[in-house]
Amino acid sequence: GTMTVGELAKALHKDASEVIKKLLFLGVMATINQELDLDAIQLLASDYNVEVELKIPVEEDKFEQFEEHDEAEDLLGRPPVVTIMGHVDHGKTTLLDAIRKTNVTEGEAGGITQHIGAYQVEIHNKKITFLDTPGHAAFTSMRARGALVTDITIIVVAADDGVMPQTVEAINHAKAAKVPIIVAVNKVDKEGADPERIKQALTEYELVPEEWGGDTIFCNISAKQRIGLENLLDMILLVAEVQEFKANPNKRARGTVIEAELDKGKGPVARVLIQHGTLKVGDSFVAGVCFGRVRAMVNDRGKRLKEAGPSTPVEITGLTEVPQAGDPFIVFEDERKARSIAEKRAVTLRQSEMGANVRVTLDDLYKHIKEGEIKDLNVIIKGDVQGSVEALRGSLEKIEIEGVRVKILHQGVGAITESDVILASASNAIVIGFNVRPEPQAKNTAESEKVDIRLHSIIYKVIEEIEHAMKGMLDPVF
Ligand code: GDP
Repeated sequence: GTMTVGELAKALHKDASEVIKKLLFLGVMATINQELDLDAIQLLASDYNVEVELKIPVEEDKFEQFEEHDEAEDLLGRPPVVTIMGHVDHGKTTLLDAIRKTNVTEGEAGGITQHIGAYQVEIHNKKITFLDTPGHAAFTSMRARGALVTDITIIVVAADDGVMPQTVEAINHAKAAKVPIIVAVNKVDKEGADPERIKQALTEYELVPEEWGGDTIFCNISAKQRIGLENLLDMILLVAEVQEFKANPNKRARGTVIEAELDKGKGPVARVLIQHGTLKVGDSFVAGVCFGRVRAMVNDRGKRLKEAGPSTPVEITGLTEVPQAGDPFIVFEDERKARSIAEKRAVTLRQSEMGANVRVTLDDLYKHIKEGEIKDLNVIIKGDVQGSVEALRGSLEKIEIEGVRVKILHQGVGAITESDVILASASNAIVIGFNVRPEPQAKNTAESEKVDIRLHSIIYKVIEEIEHAMKGMLDPVF
């Protein structure tokens, strides 16, 4: 339900009779106990010059509440889910292919591997799940949609090239998501490869190897010559052991859609990573705003499965529509319930697209600070030269107002890219451009994701603006 005329009048501190008159004037006939639809509320609010914030009812939005509760003893170990990130041409795709091939077990040797967005390998009787989309665009755009499917990130750095802008981006994306990092120094077979130089360079980003007193694991590999791969897999298992990734396999499944498409023969297919519980053929589920019943399920080796447990990627058919990557996936006790939840979610989604805005912008920063919702102001800096980016970072990090500080999530030289905006969106950050502008695609995404981009060319102006925003003294921009 929304609000009655009476409730709305109260919220606006107006007489109900006045609101009814105003509504009439706007072409809406209403009585005091009448529930208004969203359009009418928005119309009225804009007439009174107030912002409407849509609170999405928990019942319709949060999937977690449908999940059965786990006792500690229900939780069992599960395979880690790994994403490979790094600069272009440093060998992400080669590494993903090489790992996939290290581990085709006997019976499946002839089997054709299927691309289902992720695959599993087995080493020393332990499984590891790899997300098959290299690069951080997929990682971060999923996170922007609230889905964190990665347990461990491998950052690939080519030993003959070094730490490059996208290496740094990948590191910052992983750090922002608080995902443990393993560094794979690749192409050690090449002439001129210098792994020690990479180690040295990465200390600047707080990735310090154990032998130098840090706790980051570095592995020297050659994805192409297949050198060091087993060691890399062992290190993944080591990190997984320390982190103790667990899930309860004995309940209805919940997971995340990693890819989806309309297949000519099969109809809508979704590739899903199961994160909790076990998915079975015949289960009724909701994926985003779509619902369905698992008709068939195959794994990355093209093998038909009857059920799939935590950390297993599967391709399923039996959907009514095509969901989106990053959509949550959850099984319900029956089809009727699944259908009704999917329909409610579709309505909520439309409503939220109409106006809900929970992004931090400088304009409403003070409000969030006052209400204790924000402890750090997350910032991404892009600038024209390294010197000014560093200077800006130094100055911003000195700001502290009423316990709130500026936290730089990412910085770089060059135009504001879509990746910057997606990171900002995923981390509720603002973007500062210093003598640079957003690329057209970045601008579009910032508009749709409601990410605040501030462009400046004088350092003290940036500082002044941030300080004013933190104190609630920002001049309104019209
Ligand atoms: P991506 O853009 O990070 O996915 O990089 P690719 O996997 O496409 O690799 C880029 C190029 O580097 C390709 O020509 C690969 O064959 C080559 N390459 C990848 N790994 C290695 C390696 O370990 N040694 C050598 N010599 N070349 C490699």
